[in-house]
Amino acid sequence: VLGGGVTAAQVDSLVEHMPLCMRTMHQALRRDHHLRYHGRQQYGLFLKGIGLSVEEALIFWRNSFSNMVEDKFQKEYRYNIRHNYGLEGSRKNYKPLGCQQILSDAAPGPIDHHGCPYRYFSEDNLVASLEGMGVRDASTLRSVKEDVRTKQYHVACTRVFEITHKSLHGVKSLIGTGVGMESITHPNLYFDRSIQMAK
Ligand code: SF4
Repeated sequence: VLGGGVTAAQVDSLVEHMPLCMRTMHQALRRDHHLRYHGRQQYGLFLKGIGLSVEEALIFWRNSFSNMVEDKFQKEYRYNIRHNYGLEGSRKNYKPLGCQQILSDAAPGPIDHHGCPYRYFSEDNLVASLEGMGVRDASTLRSVKEDVRTKQYHVACTRVFEITHKSLHGVKSLIGTGVGMESITHPNLYFDRSIQMAK
């Protein structure tokens, strides 16, 4: 979607187009200057999907792990980043993970930030995060909580997309229903659609 590719320096300015799962990992990375393995996999492959080349990915992760000495980064992290781009080991060209895969992947532990927040966040934490995205309307928040209770995480995510993009949305009567557009099934679909609507 972003024709010429994305540079490491541009990632911060693109967070507003990311779904809650990727925002959560990005914010944790900026706060802690680190992200554990599953988070690096999910967020790293998502960034690959939005157009970050392997060279830019190495710059992005190196700069993000600002408290880490160079030697440790080179020895313990560089390989994995290159591996995700098919440049090491089995040389498989890994694809960004879809929602279903993220939902069935290892559940996050207390110090992890990967996974789908609609599934794993406490209700209070989810509401606070959504308010941080500008979703403050009580009836929308109630509906999202109901989606979560009925395990319809993709409907919650789609509903939030509709609400946060409503000024640009075509089907006004369906805004905020979670069914007013093709359901979100992939974080990169959410991102691509958001970028398209901003054009
Ligand atoms: Fe991310 Fe998919 Fe969950 Fe949305 S439904 S937050 S895109 S994993």
